[in-house]
Amino acid sequence: MIVLEIKNAAVIGAGIMGHGIAEVLALSGLNVVLNDVSQDFLDRARQNVLSSLSRMKESGKLNEPVMNDALAKLTFSTDIRNSVAKADIIIEAVPEVLDIKKSVIREVESSCSPDAIIASNTSNFRITELQDGSVRPHRIVGMHFFNPPVVLKLVEVVKGEKTDDQTFEAVFDLSRKIGKTPIRVVKDSPGFVVNRINAPESLFFCLLLDRKIDSPSSIDIFARSQGLPMGPYELMDYVGIDTVVHSLEYYAKELSPEYGKCMIYKQMMEQNRLGRKTGHGFYTWENGKAQIPSGEPSSKVELMDVLAIELNEAVKLIEEGVASPEDIETGVRLGMNRPFGPISVAQGLTNAEIKKKLEDLSARFESTVFAPSKSIAEGKLKEAISGKITPKQGNKPVSPETQTQGNDPVFMVKKDKIAIVYLNNGRLNLLNAAVLDGLEKTFLEIREDKEINVVVVTGKGTVFSAGAELSQFFSGGIDFMQASRHGQSVFRLLSEMNKITIAEIKGYALGGGFELSLACDIRVSSPDAKIGFPELQRGLVPGWGGTQRLSKLIGSSRASYLILTAERITGKEALDMGIVTRTFGAETIDDDVLNFAHDLSRKVAPGAAYLAKLLINKGSETSLDDGLTMEAISMGLVYGTEDLKEGISAFLQKREPEFKGR
Ligand code: NAD
Repeated sequence: MIVLEIKNAAVIGAGIMGHGIAEVLALSGLNVVLNDVSQDFLDRARQNVLSSLSRMKESGKLNEPVMNDALAKLTFSTDIRNSVAKADIIIEAVPEVLDIKKSVIREVESSCSPDAIIASNTSNFRITELQDGSVRPHRIVGMHFFNPPVVLKLVEVVKGEKTDDQTFEAVFDLSRKIGKTPIRVVKDSPGFVVNRINAPESLFFCLLLDRKIDSPSSIDIFARSQGLPMGPYELMDYVGIDTVVHSLEYYAKELSPEYGKCMIYKQMMEQNRLGRKTGHGFYTWENGKAQIPSGEPSSKVELMDVLAIELNEAVKLIEEGVASPEDIETGVRLGMNRPFGPISVAQGLTNAEIKKKLEDLSARFESTVFAPSKSIAEGKLKEAISGKITPKQGNKPVSPETQTQGNDPVFMVKKDKIAIVYLNNGRLNLLNAAVLDGLEKTFLEIREDKEINVVVVTGKGTVFSAGAELSQFFSGGIDFMQASRHGQSVFRLLSEMNKITIAEIKGYALGGGFELSLACDIRVSSPDAKIGFPELQRGLVPGWGGTQRLSKLIGSSRASYLILTAERITGKEALDMGIVTRTFGAETIDDDVLNFAHDLSRKVAPGAAYLAKLLINKGSETSLDDGLTMEAISMGLVYGTEDLKEGISAFLQKREPEFKGR
């Protein structure tokens, strides 16, 4: 049975947001239980609600009976089970820590009615992550209020991948009923609409300081002079520098590793300069006000910088199908308390102006986060903001954790122009028939995907692959030979891939795992990884191309030594032997390789890269003369391509090229 009318609510977490949400609900006539872990927090929340209602009464927005009714509807409890037992909706507003949120949701689920809706007020986490592990994920939804909830009108209603339509619409209707303006976030995305649009801005304002371009006060004075209610640094101080850091860390994981490049906020957090809450941040805070020194407005930033960055992110949201242009406009206007949103800004600007501004910002800060979105790059800004483009399907930022729900032995995550292929078979990522099938399917899919330029192959967790699963059943020699041929054909798909391929080696790359890495164009490793061919110790020979590819790579003498002695070498030794070409620290290798792949995916022309691969690989199997002829033919092929023109223009104009693969 679906609860159609929501009369009873529970709010979990009575902090800044929780007490405000409870107040809004009670004012709208719902019975509300406000829950927190200690009576002290509840007493403080009760006091905050009372003060807020009194202020409204004094300003004439509320009369005494309405205030008393609201107070009568609100009860307080430290017992979470009792709090949720009768609730039609439970809204969690506990701290923005994934584990805390997940454990609260699990606890709520065990005590609430099976049909009750569980809404999360998370600022950033994908709702799908909160659904992970739930017994009733279809009833979990995002209901993102803005601070202060009693004042700001916006609620982002967010559909997780498993949220059902009834739940989504019920929360949308409830948001209206309580006097808010909801927008529909129909595709789960980190930061949803408003915080996602804020994300590149936070990076921009960080880079301005990291590079010592100007001071916070002169930029804030500039922002206020342009009519913004608060400057960006004052706002970050107000929100809390720790909140900004945690958000950027999440975006670095989910959207682009470049969000992790930001230094100044992290340093401030280490020094406990968290802004208003600690009394010091970018500014000293006294009596709830930032003490901003007077001075001249900055001449190093332009309003257009910020507007272009916001608009670019808004267009990415439209391209990804996260929300409609109208809802994005409403979201930014109401969530950021502005007279206009990015869509109306775009009406008065040309595609060329925005594109140029973004290209300049991207080059100036060496950041792809500011690079023009696909539609802007293609001159389709107006189509995008009028909803005339078809949102991309199946290319949303998805975390590996979510992808592994089905325990697929191989899964792929796309980030921009990169595909990361994860082996996902136990801790050691052993290779068996199912893994080979998964790799084959994934490689074929990637081969046809024109948006992907670079492929990273690695293992989920800390191990690349410790080799073939030796306990598999084979009915005889022919069967065994077929398994070898199957592996060879799958690895050949990889070695002949029309994209640049990188093997990210960590933990172990042994036997078949080592062979998988040898089918890639580039191998990088952690210095302590263990690499080798143990086959001969088991009475086997390397059967997936190892004897052939290793000797081509490092010469037959050293390949013979490694294969015949079955000795294991470290990543560091593999670097010295030329098997791997770079090492990255074991702790950071996942991020480092992603950064490396990102840079590569932008800076080299994909068509030329494919031809160069063919020349290197096939050239090694042919005579010098034939190889040189193939090279000359390739030169003829690249002549006249758009990418050649772009590469040369970008070089002459001292900017980053923007290759299209044409
Ligand atoms: P807060 O720290 O002020 O309040 C969190 C409250 O949750 C605390 O009172 C804490 O005691 C309580 N709590 C912790 N664990 C609990 C548990 N297991 N059971 C019950 N209560 C528990 O945080 P906040 O600023 O109100 O943020 C809450 C959520 O709202 C976060 O997800 C945040 O990202 C989101 N949010 C915050 C803002 C904002 O401006 N502060 C705006 C929008 C959304």
